Amino acid sequence: MVFFRVPQHLWRDYNWQIKNRIKTIEELQKFIILTREEIEGIKRTQGLYPMAITPYYLSLIDPEDPNDPIRLQAIPRAVEVEEEVQKFGEPDALREEGEIPGLTHRYPDRVLMTVTTFCAVYCRHCMRKRIFAEGERARTKEEIDRMLDYIKEHEEVRDVLISGGEPLSLGNEKLRYILSKLREIKHVEIIRFGTRLPVLAPQRFFDEELLDILEEHSPIWINTHFNHPKEITELSQEAVDKLLRRGIPVNNQTVLLKGVNDDPRVMLELMRGLLRIKVKPQYLFHCDPIRGAVHFRTTVDKGMEIMRYLRGRISGMGIPTYAVDLPGGKGKVPILPNYIIEREGDRFVFESFTGEAVEYVINEPV
Ligand code: SF4
Repeated sequence: MVFFRVPQHLWRDYNWQIKNRIKTIEELQKFIILTREEIEGIKRTQGLYPMAITPYYLSLIDPEDPNDPIRLQAIPRAVEVEEEVQKFGEPDALREEGEIPGLTHRYPDRVLMTVTTFCAVYCRHCMRKRIFAEGERARTKEEIDRMLDYIKEHEEVRDVLISGGEPLSLGNEKLRYILSKLREIKHVEIIRFGTRLPVLAPQRFFDEELLDILEEHSPIWINTHFNHPKEITELSQEAVDKLLRRGIPVNNQTVLLKGVNDDPRVMLELMRGLLRIKVKPQYLFHCDPIRGAVHFRTTVDKGMEIMRYLRGRISGMGIPTYAVDLPGGKGKVPILPNYIIEREGDRFVFESFTGEAVEYVINEPV
């Protein structure tokens, strides 16, 4: 790709990546021959679900493959705005919008702060797609302060998830402000960032000042979002490594996406790749019924087939929890394949990972 001509010092510069995001058909066509559906998609999603792709993420696409998994996640298709997709799903299926703009308090001990609508790449399957149309806007200091006041007043809140959009797209000073204010609140123990930058623009983590800020406000956890093994690169590994060296654990939340990763072998490769770069696979989410993204949904049976395939082929450490988010903001529920074939009191018949039926009397008297 043309990008190979970009000098290394620019390629490794987060600000260069953001400044050079690809946002138009003309720019994109310099790198990829677009399909008719994509051209129509870019045109028809303008204003509603815009496009932006970092040169780094674009460079992961195989330009010869119209069904490349990175391409499917990054380049709009007309299907997003077609009636049969638009009529299903809701913009805010998880009921995140509440009284205080940007703040969701669903579980008693946790809150979600959404601090910006900006993203490095606008992922086509995003569960917060509704915010794309708001334009790229970080929350003001007044809005942030309102959220912080709420958290201060609610002593049951132990865990704050900072998300967006892309929360780590905020400047270092603003991040320092939010983190230092949160750390002044005695009942806040855990701070997490929901960030896709290790995948979309890992260069953000080459900024030592950002790493200093995160380390100073420990314990901080990163929840990231790798969906496909192609997203595991030398640069994403370097980003993860820099976080781990500062004592910041990195967990991953994958979304099950039709055409991208709804294949047991692809998922196994992804989970193995994540362990290799020391990222813990935490969740595999069933794709939410989000308006404009329901074409990415597949069946729960497919999800369970993948979970069965993983068991026995990778250590338990590499097996995420498969979960659905219940409608109406009722929270996450894990879905497990059933390994109990029969049960009579203490006598169980289990299905082993090879499919063998194995009898086991648990709690037999000693
Ligand atoms: S980076 Fe996250 S919030 Fe932004 S578009 Fe992608 S999935 Fe959505």
